[in-house]
Amino acid sequence: MGHGGVTAQAALRDAHRFLLNTYKRAPIVFVRAKGCTIVDADGKKYLDFLGGIAVNALGHGHPRIVRTIRREAGRAIHFSNLYHHLWQGPLGRKLASWSGMDRVFFTNSGTEAIEGALKLARLYTRRQNGGSRASGKPGILALDNSFHGRTFGALSITSTRKYREPFEPLLPGVQFVCFNDVADLEAKFDATIGAVVIEPLQGEGGIHAVSDAFWNRARELATQHGAALVADEIQCGLGRTGRYFAYQRFAARPDIVVVAKPLAGGLPLGAVLVNDAIASAVSPGVHGTTFGGGPLTCAVALEFLKTVDEEKLLGKIQERGRELRAGLIKLQRKFDFIREVRGEGLMVGVELSIEGAPFVTEALRSGVLINCTHDYVLRFLPPFTVTSREIGQFLSKLETVFAKTPRTALLPAMNSSAVAKARALAVAR
Ligand code: PLP
Repeated sequence: MGHGGVTAQAALRDAHRFLLNTYKRAPIVFVRAKGCTIVDADGKKYLDFLGGIAVNALGHGHPRIVRTIRREAGRAIHFSNLYHHLWQGPLGRKLASWSGMDRVFFTNSGTEAIEGALKLARLYTRRQNGGSRASGKPGILALDNSFHGRTFGALSITSTRKYREPFEPLLPGVQFVCFNDVADLEAKFDATIGAVVIEPLQGEGGIHAVSDAFWNRARELATQHGAALVADEIQCGLGRTGRYFAYQRFAARPDIVVVAKPLAGGLPLGAVLVNDAIASAVSPGVHGTTFGGGPLTCAVALEFLKTVDEEKLLGKIQERGRELRAGLIKLQRKFDFIREVRGEGLMVGVELSIEGAPFVTEALRSGVLINCTHDYVLRFLPPFTVTSREIGQFLSKLETVFAKTPRTALLPAMNSSAVAKARALAVAR
C-alpha cells in the first residue's frame, strides 16, 4: 500500500542505500499515530511507551497542537531573530513563570541548548572577573553516567566512553564527579570551575535521581566559587516528573536551566533559561542561532505549556506514574531478574540483572514501544496524557514479554565502576 505516494518497501530500500548508518533501527516503517498508539505500514498498532524519547508529551495528534500548527503554518513559519514576532516574548514569560528563571534564549535542539549554557557560563564567569581571556573559569564539572548531547561541547560533558572516544580530543578542563558523591564533588570543585552541569534525574544514564545532599552542596560550591549551576532538564523537565522541573524537588534553584524535547509538541525547539546574573553578561551579537524560536515552534510550545496547566496534567502525571510503578513492583515480585523500579512521574526505569535488549525486541514484536538504556535498564516515557487503561494494557503486555523472552547471561556492564558506585551510594542514602 502506498502512503503519500511512497511505499514502505521503497522507504526502507532508500534508507538502507542513502542514509548514514548512525542508528540501529528496526525494519518497521511508521505511517501515522494518535494519542498513545502508532500504526506501521502494515496496519499493525503499537502502544507508545517511549514517546519519541520523551518528546511526544501530549501523545500524537493532540487536537490543540494540531490546531495551532495548522493556524500558524498558514500565517508564518519563520522570520528571523532580527525581528520580533508574536510568540517568543509570551513563551519566554510562561517559561520564566514555570521555572523561576528570568530570561530565555531559544535553540533548535537539546544539544544546542547545552552549548548555549556552556557559553553563557563562560561569559558570566569571565565578565565577573574582569573580562580578559585569563579571567575566565575554564573548568566544567559533570557527572558520571551523564548524557548531554552529541555536539562537541555537550559531548565533552557526556561521560559515556563509546560516544566520546571516536571524537577525542574533546573540550579540555572537564572532570566527571562520581554520581551523588559529595566528597568527590568537593575534591574536584575549585576556583577554576565555571560550570557544574547536572541532570536532576538522569535519563540515558539509567533513571538515577540526584540526591538533595549532592544538589545542595553543588549549589553552595557554585555560589562560593562564582560558577554557574546548570540543570539539564532536557529529558526530565517540563512536567515529566510531575513537577514543572525536576530540580523543583530541591530547595535551591540552579542559575541556568536547559530544556528541549517536549517543548514544542514534537517540533524541534530548545531553550536556555537563565537568572538575571547570567543574563547581565549577555549583549547583542555574543550568541545567536538562525532557526531557534521561530513563530510556528514558539506558538506550539506556548500551546503545549498552556495545555499542561489547563488540563491539570501535573497531577495526572503523578497519578499515572504511581500506577505504573505499582504495577512494575508487582512484576518485580514475579520476575527475579527485575532488580529495581526507579523514577518519578512518567519517567520510569526498570533495572534488570540480565540484558534488556531482547525484551525490547520482544515488546516491539508484541506491539509495545520501549527502550533499553545502559544495557540493562528498561526505560518507559509514556505521554502525559496516557490513561489508566493504557497503563493496564502496557503492564499486561510487558508481563507476557517478561514471561516468554529467553533469558541471556548476566552482563559484565553490571560491574562497571560508575554504576556500582552509584548503586552503593543510593543504598547508603
Ligand atoms: N540532555 C539530555 C538529558 C538528553 O536526554 C538529551 C537527549 O536525549 C540531550 C541532552 C540532547 O538533546 P538533543 O538530542 O535534542 O540534542
